Amino acid sequence: MLPDLHIHTARCGHAHGEMAAYVEAARRRGVTHLGFADHIPMYWLPSSRRDPALAMGEDDLPVYVENVLALRRENPDLTISLGIEADYIPGYEDRLRAILSAYPFDYVLGSVHYLDGWGFDHPDQVEEYARRDIDEIYRQYFLAMQEAARSGLFDVMAHPDLIKKFGHRPRMELEDLYDQTARVLAGAGVCVEVNTAGLRKPVREIYPALEFLKCCYHCGVPATPGSDAHHPDQVAFGWAEAKKWLAAAGYRQVALFAKRSRQFVPIR
Ligand code: ZN
Ligand code: FE
Ligand code: FE
Ligand code: ZN
Repeated sequence: MLPDLHIHTARCGHAHGEMAAYVEAARRRGVTHLGFADHIPMYWLPSSRRDPALAMGEDDLPVYVENVLALRRENPDLTISLGIEADYIPGYEDRLRAILSAYPFDYVLGSVHYLDGWGFDHPDQVEEYARRDIDEIYRQYFLAMQEAARSGLFDVMAHPDLIKKFGHRPRMELEDLYDQTARVLAGAGVCVEVNTAGLRKPVREIYPALEFLKCCYHCGVPATPGSDAHHPDQVAFGWAEAKKWLAAAGYRQVALFAKRSRQFVPIR
């Protein structure tokens, strides 16, 4: 069974279910390696502008870490990794680096959820797609991903073509951006996430597109599977499709992490 390294918890304010329920769901589904990756506190905003429905508060972070470590001790039959999903916000790299270095994370998922302050994956902000040039949006998104990868802050780029979430497709061909981005990930030693949440969204497609995943494979970028579960029922969501996607791109193994060092397990 593929590991599932992208699991949220009720702590982020928009996922459902306590952590123990995710662990039970994993066990029921035969997932023996799971990694929590809840949303990091909104470190780039002043406290008054942080939305408790988007991410845990700063005081919750040490508790989150403690809880994951406790679950690890209580469930010796499973491998439970301590991850975090961290937004990439240009200009705030040092602040993020300081937070990440304060805890014993096994890995950090890097996410681009904002382009110049526009939360493009938020359902309340979808109208903005109509006001902008779609090709320009895609270009900006992939350049932000490249910058994020080069920052050295992240082990994996999460949902690496999230910009397609609501089904807005560019007019231009994406080959060049795919190729360029895959090379940057390879050069930076950052993995690509195969994230099945896209199957639950209007786009109805795994992140990233198969063509991009193929570029990643050809450039030697390791892949990491994640369901982006926001409910215990979503642990290992779409795992059969994820396996097909990985195999179609050429992958025979996936990457996992312990204390921010990478290991590989064969896909079975
Ligand atoms: Zn979330
Ligand atoms: Fe995300
Ligand atoms: Fe997530
Ligand atoms: Zn995510």
